[in-house]
Amino acid sequence: CGIVGILGRQPAAPLVVDALKRLEYRGYDSAGVATLENGRLERRRAEGKLRNLEEKLARSPLSGPIGIGHTRWATHGRPNETNAHPHATDRLAVVHNGIIENFRTLKEELQAEGVVFETETDTEVVAQLVTREMRAGRGPVDAVAAVLPRLRGAFALAFLFAGEEDLLIGARHGAPLAIGYGDGEMYLGSDALALAPLTDEICYLEDGDWVVLSHQGAVIRDMSGKVVQRERQRFAPGA
Ligand code: GLU
Repeated sequence: CGIVGILGRQPAAPLVVDALKRLEYRGYDSAGVATLENGRLERRRAEGKLRNLEEKLARSPLSGPIGIGHTRWATHGRPNETNAHPHATDRLAVVHNGIIENFRTLKEELQAEGVVFETETDTEVVAQLVTREMRAGRGPVDAVAAVLPRLRGAFALAFLFAGEEDLLIGARHGAPLAIGYGDGEMYLGSDALALAPLTDEICYLEDGDWVVLSHQGAVIRDMSGKVVQRERQRFAPGA
């Protein structure tokens, strides 16, 4: 339902939660955040309100400067902590808005290869498909590029990778996703409103676009893999 990504310099988790709060009006049943702690993926997730997630973070804080977060409106799988995003493997964490319509076929394909699923969600197939590509030797960018054409439905995705302190990947296919430009920091959001206090310069991805973010900026590609330029907009806070 709501996606936030931060590639920053100070602890990302509190900023991610703060940004998710500005998306609360859309409704949700659970929430979660993943960060890199010295290169290692760590997650905190909770059923119910963002306050529950904040309590978890207060008990066991995350301090990494790169993170992704999500508020979930369940479409596939009960609204509980296990099914809350981010979904993760040893390689990556992913948050997802929308529906992967062909997830059952993809899940059966992976299960036939011995992949064991932890959740009931459509989203977990994305985590497992990209992980499979990485185990086959692809880097994160090539792995995502190989998987995106296999996904059907309307979705927005944000990926965080173990050991990659200067990388976030976002993809938009039928559900909105915006990039925010900061000073040596970059952001992703399903809604410009989420990013409003962090930056006033945003760029909406177009359908089929996917983006590789580093601290220094964004490289946007269209569905065919061609690098494209998309117009940046000034976002007037309060407007
Ligand atoms: N289909 C995904 C799920 O049920 C994402 C739902 C959403 O947009 O929050 O977990």
